Amino acid sequence: MTDDGRVHRVLIYRANLPVRRTEDMALPDKIHLVIVTPERQLFDGLVDRVTVPSSQGYLGILPGHAPLLAELGIGNISYQIGDRTEFVFCSWGFAEVLPDRVVLLAQDAEAASEIDLNRAEQAKSRAEKRLASKDPGLDFARTELALLRAISRLEIARKRSGKR
Ligand code: ATP
Repeated sequence: MTDDGRVHRVLIYRANLPVRRTEDMALPDKIHLVIVTPERQLFDGLVDRVTVPSSQGYLGILPGHAPLLAELGIGNISYQIGDRTEFVFCSWGFAEVLPDRVVLLAQDAEAASEIDLNRAEQAKSRAEKRLASKDPGLDFARTELALLRAISRLEIARKRSGKR
């Protein structure tokens, strides 16, 4: 009898708890974005939207995005603050997405201003020459990834320097 009474009280208590419906929850209007590598933090601040190069393709994230974990590939992260868009090169890592926060743990990352344009141009032509060489000993996958890194770096370094 005592047990039944306790169960009954618990049920009444639970029935009185306010139910939090998804449509009642306020959507965040900004994303707290953090970009880090094992060596340093590149960015920590509030942004309006983020695009990340996941290993499955580019992922656009707005405030209120569903939580997810994704692997980062090679490409360029971009984030928007008002009408300004910033770019950061990234190579491998992980992304944690929450409705109001995105944490990007990149193995390697460089802000557009840190990219050495000449070095990236040289890396690109080196990779292209190797791919065109038809060398049977060529590590094709490795060279393709080197080319992709160079192209991604060039894309944002050229944007910055106004070169096409
Ligand atoms: P490279 O052949 O020129 O070294 P890579 O693509 O093989 O290019 P990574 O292995 O991606 O180079 O990077 C090695 C280190 O050099 C990293 O710390 C990276 O930040 C830096 N790095 C590579 N290329 C550039 C560049 N163009 N500008 C600035 N830093 C670069």
